[in-house]
Amino acid sequence: RDLPVLVTGGAGYIGSHAVLALQAAGCPVAVVDDLSNGTRRAVPSDVPFYEGSIADRQLLSRIFAEQGTRAIMHFAGSIVVPESVEKPLLYYANNTLASHALISAAVDAGIPHILFSSTAAVYGAPERVPVEEDDPKRPINPYGASKLMTEGMLADCAAAYSFNYGALRYFNVSGADPQGRSGQAGQGSTHLIKVAVEAAVGKRSHVDVFGDDYPTADGTCVRDYIHVSDLAAAHVRALERLVAAPSENLVMNCGYGRGLSVLEVLDAVDRVAGMPVARRMQGRRPGDPPALVASNRRLVETLDWQPQFADIDTIVAHALHWERKLKDLTAA
Ligand code: UDP
Repeated sequence: RDLPVLVTGGAGYIGSHAVLALQAAGCPVAVVDDLSNGTRRAVPSDVPFYEGSIADRQLLSRIFAEQGTRAIMHFAGSIVVPESVEKPLLYYANNTLASHALISAAVDAGIPHILFSSTAAVYGAPERVPVEEDDPKRPINPYGASKLMTEGMLADCAAAYSFNYGALRYFNVSGADPQGRSGQAGQGSTHLIKVAVEAAVGKRSHVDVFGDDYPTADGTCVRDYIHVSDLAAAHVRALERLVAAPSENLVMNCGYGRGLSVLEVLDAVDRVAGMPVARRMQGRRPGDPPALVASNRRLVETLDWQPQFADIDTIVAHALHWERKLKDLTAA
């Protein structure tokens, strides 16, 4: 389809997969990214790339004019929960204030659709799982709060100005492009599957298991791990819906509605890697809710989204394939 889409944060993990999905759907795509975390390499060479901040109004006006932007997929932001606790002002600046600048520029330019990258962290420690979209939103860290504020700005602005928006609340995003074109780059990730495949390729000696005394079946935390390419496909469906129903907004969870424990994930890594990855039992990590699982009824029913990579062994296999590729790149 001929809808020019600007992807903010398109050089990052989820944004780069969204770029691939948009290209596959035939949309002209441009990327703006300040490369604070993403890499230029993650952006396909035929995609116009603008290095800079989404808070830079002049830059945004130039991009909108050059691209003829008709929709924005907004991924740019800071995402490390413990860092948000140490540096809340950084998170309110990079997530909330920068989004304010982006939304203002989009309103001025009359851009009709904005799709925002939100998070299950808006729910804090939910009282029940699976979590539904209308359940209480009580973030327990500045990261979740900064994202929830952006959702609020979008809701108020969509009511006041002429655009509609979607906010997709991601659960645990994992895996990598099945064709090996992109994946989670970089050092210092704290996410379970990334850490475990790093251990499987020898970049780490072991995986710490943070807590085995939770009120769950095996005592370890339960999460809803969603493959990044299924998530990217959900974005394309959501954008199609925003275009087809311009008077509606979309707020929806993105997950499979199934929970896996830390030990179940590590078992999958052992199976896929064909060897056991060393585990070390540790105490609980502060701020971890025992279970976080999405109700995805809205996503499935509204967008007719059909996930392709929900099997945990598939998620791990793609993550491992990408990790091996990264290792070869750094060795070369
Ligand atoms: N976890 C773990 N060891 C690690 C990283 C994570 O045991 O090295 C656990 C973590 O405590 C949580 C789950 O795995 O229960 C998922 O954590 P992750 O950081 O991947 O995502 P989060 O749910 O915090 O966004």
